[in-house]
Amino acid sequence: MKLYRIKKSNIDRNGKGLYAIKNIKKGTKIIDYVGKIITKKQTEKSEKFDNAKPIYLFNLNNRYDLDGDVPWNIARLINHSCSNNCDYDGKGLKLWVTAIKNIKKGEELTCDYGFSFDKDYKQFPCKCRSRNCCGYIVREGSRWRIKRNKKLVNNLFQI
Ligand SMILES: [Zn+2]
Repeated sequence: MKLYRIKKSNIDRNGKGLYAIKNIKKGTKIIDYVGKIITKKQTEKSEKFDNAKPIYLFNLNNRYDLDGDVPWNIARLINHSCSNNCDYDGKGLKLWVTAIKNIKKGEELTCDYGFSFDKDYKQFPCKCRSRNCCGYIVREGSRWRIKRNKKLVNNLFQI
């Protein structure tokens, strides 16, 4: 049973997103994340992955990666949000997307892209507009660094 449909995204204004077409319970597997299984060597050689933050590249194990940047991978359309309602999950060479909250019909499905905090974080602004949005696509565990930066800036202005 299909739980989603493709629609113009509210987060990525120029792109598409996936939307729940019925209420989805926390823990439900929503969609497979498919693509081409490639070796780490292929990943290293490919110019496609030169960027330090390849959005659609997943580490499967110490030999293989999954390149999800293929037209038949519908799950690649899921956008990042700072209060994501889904997350990537996997076992062996299989990946999928699971609801980590109860999701209401009509809500956009979102994941945490898991980008690390580094000098390039400003290249990826986040437009999720959730209350806790840190302004950039950075994984949850590292967002405090950006919040701290904001505070530092505020303090400087107060002095
Ligand atoms: Zn955000």
